[in-house]
Amino acid sequence: MQILETEGPGETYEIGRKMGLKAAPGDVFALNGDLGTGKTVFAQGFAEGLGVREYVNSPTFTILSVYETGRIPLYHFDVCRIEDPEEMFEVGFDEYINGRGVCLIEWADIIEEILPEARVSVTIAKDLARGNDYRRITVEDGRS
Ligand code: ADP
Ligand code: MG
Repeated sequence: MQILETEGPGETYEIGRKMGLKAAPGDVFALNGDLGTGKTVFAQGFAEGLGVREYVNSPTFTILSVYETGRIPLYHFDVCRIEDPEEMFEVGFDEYINGRGVCLIEWADIIEEILPEARVSVTIAKDLARGNDYRRITVEDGRS
């Protein structure tokens, strides 16, 4: 387990970018943290690390956005509206986690029961005592 601290969105973006540079097909990145902690900022950096050229936004109304312009495809999920993890299979989750791209899932805890053990968990938390722009980012790499 690794704990990283950032003092602004640019630093969180950079952490995402570095992970995107190293991501491989079949990797699953599970992002957690309250609304506004920086999951999407991380995802944007991650996408840049993969070489994605499109603008990456929260796919809040679609569950999934697919970006194909990078080194490998990016499957960017936001599962905050999922009520039953089984709904994920309706959007083809199975094929995505076993696909040729990398999955990055915002609000991943909601579907924890269907996530593979071999995943990278990234949890972002504020600590207002350290200021508005401070974030503590806990990374647990469960890939073997
Ligand atoms: P989420 O996807 O977790 O709901 P967003 O990434 O959409 O959150 O928004 C995070 C917000 O917090 C942005 O407005 C960003 O500028 C701001 N912010 C401030 N400090 C940081 C930081 N250290 N890391 C990430 N975002 C930060
Ligand atoms: Mg978001």
